[in-house]
Amino acid sequence: MMDDLFQALVAKTDDIVFVIDANFDNGGPSIVYVNPAFEKLFGYQANEVIGQSPNMLNGPNTDRQTRYRINRALRKGKGIRTELLKYGKNGHGHWLDMNIVPLHDEKGNVQYFASIERDVSRYKKMERQLANMALFDSLTGALSRAAFMQHAEKEFSRAKRYHRPLSVMMIDIDHFKRVNDQYGHAAGDHVLQIFVEAIEEEIRNTDVLGRVGGEEFTLLLADTPMQAASYLAERVRERISKYPYIAGTHLVDVTASLGVAVLTEDDEHFKEMLHRADKALYKAKHAGRNRVKLAA
Ligand code: GH3
Ligand code: MG
Ligand code: MG
Repeated sequence: MMDDLFQALVAKTDDIVFVIDANFDNGGPSIVYVNPAFEKLFGYQANEVIGQSPNMLNGPNTDRQTRYRINRALRKGKGIRTELLKYGKNGHGHWLDMNIVPLHDEKGNVQYFASIERDVSRYKKMERQLANMALFDSLTGALSRAAFMQHAEKEFSRAKRYHRPLSVMMIDIDHFKRVNDQYGHAAGDHVLQIFVEAIEEEIRNTDVLGRVGGEEFTLLLADTPMQAASYLAERVRERISKYPYIAGTHLVDVTASLGVAVLTEDDEHFKEMLHRADKALYKAKHAGRNRVKLAA
């Protein structure tokens, strides 16, 4: 009676249930049972997988470390809960949250392992997207590139709609490679942190700073026309160049070049302004660095 009940339960559940034997000799355990949910997700009929090694579901991105951890647990006769990427018959990958439990015979020896699994691919994808959207750069606390761009697009639309001025500044540290070469990468990282501090002391809290490249920053100035932006750029440049940068026991000289651009009637996308600021920055570099250039 109970047997029938459990059979029905395992057959009807959306969770994947599959069972392998605990035979670790020649070739390792093989599959002895799969339920219909398994057949549906992986696209294999039961008779195609029974007798095969569960490794048949592994593929190019199945994590080796996790496989190793599973093997180790099973060899000790223990269960394990983990996530693993497995592949179906058509080559599609699925992330599975799996809970493997040992099943014992009357003598208490492990006879089988049952694995109860759920497809969590959807959540894995969301997890990845969230990680990509990280709002702040962890080193400097400036906005991440993605977050800055999102904010800038929004401000751009608003400025256009209400015919408000909008400025953007590109700031790139001069000869930053030399700082790394001379004092090491860790010192370079520290200089980047101090650099952002210097900028932040000069700006209002409505101005938004983004770290868009390794040592490239953008500053978005809402409601700010060219003249005000160029004054600010000059003040920022000066503060950067006078700020004390201490890397280890050394006092490091740091300067930066800046390019400034403003929203024009013809701009359709924020990227166009940013591109002009970038070209102005390029001119500042070529004119000798440690200076501000305004976009034409
Ligand atoms: P310039 O801009 O004046 O032309 O010269 P540069 O030396 O700054 O040139 P470039 O922009 O090509 O090089 C940037 C260097 O910044 C290269 C890279 O090693 C370093 N860098 C980028 N990101 C980081 C970071 O996060 N930490 C450290 N320490 N260095 C970084
Ligand atoms: Mg640079
Ligand atoms: Mg650069």
